Amino acid sequence: MQHPAKLKPLVTALLLSATLLAGAAHAQLAPAPGATAPAGTTAEARKANIVIIGTGGTIAGAGASATNTAAYQSAVVPVDKIIASVPEISKVANVKGEQIFQIGSESFNNERLIKLGKRVSELLKQPDVDGIVITHGTDTIEETAYFLNLTLKSDKPVVVVGSMRPGTALGADGALNLYDAVLVASSPASKGKGTLVVLNDEIHTGRDVTKTNTFKTETFRSPFGPLGYVVEGRTLYYRTLARPHTVQTEFDIDKIDKLPEVAVVYAYGNVNPAAVDAAVKSGAKAIVYAATGNGSVGEYMVEPLKAAQAKGVQVVRASRTGAGIVVRNAEQPDDKYNWIVTDDQLPQKARILMALALTKTSDPKALQQILWKY
Ligand code: ASP
Repeated sequence: MQHPAKLKPLVTALLLSATLLAGAAHAQLAPAPGATAPAGTTAEARKANIVIIGTGGTIAGAGASATNTAAYQSAVVPVDKIIASVPEISKVANVKGEQIFQIGSESFNNERLIKLGKRVSELLKQPDVDGIVITHGTDTIEETAYFLNLTLKSDKPVVVVGSMRPGTALGADGALNLYDAVLVASSPASKGKGTLVVLNDEIHTGRDVTKTNTFKTETFRSPFGPLGYVVEGRTLYYRTLARPHTVQTEFDIDKIDKLPEVAVVYAYGNVNPAAVDAAVKSGAKAIVYAATGNGSVGEYMVEPLKAAQAKGVQVVRASRTGAGIVVRNAEQPDDKYNWIVTDDQLPQKARILMALALTKTSDPKALQQILWKY
């Protein structure tokens, strides 16, 4: 028989774990400002109408076996089939699928970007559409999201979503990411937040987000952190946006039919100036020089870049470091050369913004202001 003095701690422990279990059964998240109600309450009172546009990528991918998490064929599963594989979605929104492309996102080009943007814009104008979700490859999701963030003229939510593993893989992430994306697009709290990217339980702004790892599901990062989380069916925001987007910008997708060519030249030790000459010859209107450090330009690269500028090709100093701003007139006399610097945009994002900026002006000073604004 147990001694009563020994029984007391045992009873206390049992009571404590019973209390914890009861707590778990009623697990609740603190209400956050602007947060949506949990699925099954307000969301069901009036389900949002969401169009899911399929463009391909790993979220539409399939592997030969369940252990193929990183080797598989992308862009093979039609968007309607992807939607049908996540029946939980129909509990939170009325969704309709639309296949616009079936490609790996590395195959996006300006024409496809414009076609996608125009279609999204068209749908957003329909009163019976509350939001858009775009399934997309993760490689260039950040470029598409930044482009849409700058050019759509609506405050309705637009969410770009992808996955790092195909649906056939063990630990596939696409189903939950898609479910979360629909929740975010359905949430009134997502209105006016520009184009968002949702993966791995996080909501990022299309302006800042970038892919940082080739295979991990935790690959998308924003230098200042995500805007929010999606947890237990709830859209929770913690930050607001500082830079103008969508309705606040001077770029309108409905008025853009072509984008000027902007080349990115990547710097490294022993970089070959021929890359700059090739960009000029191919008709680039601007070169984003993905320079080392704070936009540093090797001594033998200065003349080729100055020569490009003299031919009317804008030169933008960017950084290949992955974060931070490029300081004007620091590493190079930008005023003297009529060069431009990025703010904190990565070279691939600076390419998008420069292409849009060049639809407005070819004055380096005005272009500089645009780079600093968005
Ligand atoms: N290469 C694929 C794509 O971007 C990778 C992915 O979706 O994760 O389409």
